[in-house]
Amino acid sequence: MKKLYAPSTVNEIRNRHDFKNTKSLGQNFLTDKGIIDKIVDGAGVCEDDLVLEIGPGLGVITWEAAQKAGKVIAVEIDKNLIPILKETLADCDNVEVLHQDILKTDINEVINRELATGKYKNVKVIGNLPYYITTPIIMKILEDGVEAESLTFMMQKEVADRIQSAPGKKTYGAVSVAVQYYCEAEILSKVPRDVFIPQPNVDSAVLKLTVRKEKAVEVENRDLFLSCIKAGFGQRRKTLLNSLMGVDGMTKDGVKAALEGAGIDPSRRAETLDLEEFATLANQVNKQLQGK
Ligand code: SAM
Repeated sequence: MKKLYAPSTVNEIRNRHDFKNTKSLGQNFLTDKGIIDKIVDGAGVCEDDLVLEIGPGLGVITWEAAQKAGKVIAVEIDKNLIPILKETLADCDNVEVLHQDILKTDINEVINRELATGKYKNVKVIGNLPYYITTPIIMKILEDGVEAESLTFMMQKEVADRIQSAPGKKTYGAVSVAVQYYCEAEILSKVPRDVFIPQPNVDSAVLKLTVRKEKAVEVENRDLFLSCIKAGFGQRRKTLLNSLMGVDGMTKDGVKAALEGAGIDPSRRAETLDLEEFATLANQVNKQLQGK
């Protein structure tokens, strides 16, 4: 078995290509097979799968995923990594590397083109994410309605904790409610700093998001629902009565009526509301805005 991930190999490749990691692109490369397996096997990658990998770097996860997947499409922003990936993945005929910014990629177009071949049953998204854009990447995939079964990502542990948090916890916030609306979240593993080159100055975790086939709650207007969550947590210390004022031009009386309609005490704060309460409240706000 090829050991692309071995620290000596990772360093040899970087030195031979005179490659310098760019901190601003979140380039911390994995050097531990056990952790790579946590991502690839945690996602349950198998031969029926089309895998989308975000940020392949030197290709250490890509190569392992390619041994198990039908096809891997890897999206990498750094042009200096493209010739390296050509070399490290030369023996994988089921990998396509796209030199693109994932935030500007039409992911649905990329995936639908492959699904149209009829070769793949499921789409799984994986990656050791560039930490500086973890939330934007996750929200883009979820809001774009990408037809993925799951998203299994290495990320900053603090962000993983926030995503899978529950009402009343200090870590509970807008990202917890927004992501849990789309997915079930599970932390598969905590990850120490010394499995990366260079070592990041934060702790990491592998988080698996299993996309719900049916949404956990009924939401009439998704954008308004997300705006209510954002506004509620944007001013955490304020009561919902005050924090929701102004959402889509809502007046204090309108918010009061919406809270009453939802059976929620106006003095409560966003951090105490669960997903279902947020949905009920957003539907009531929608009702007010429609003048119903
Ligand atoms: N997968 C490799 C590994 O585990 O060793 C590299 C992971 S590294 C944490 C993140 C990777 O994402 C880097 O290769 C970086 O260049 C790439 N990246 C950063 N921003 C990106 C973006 N907007 N779109 C695509 N790739 C990006």
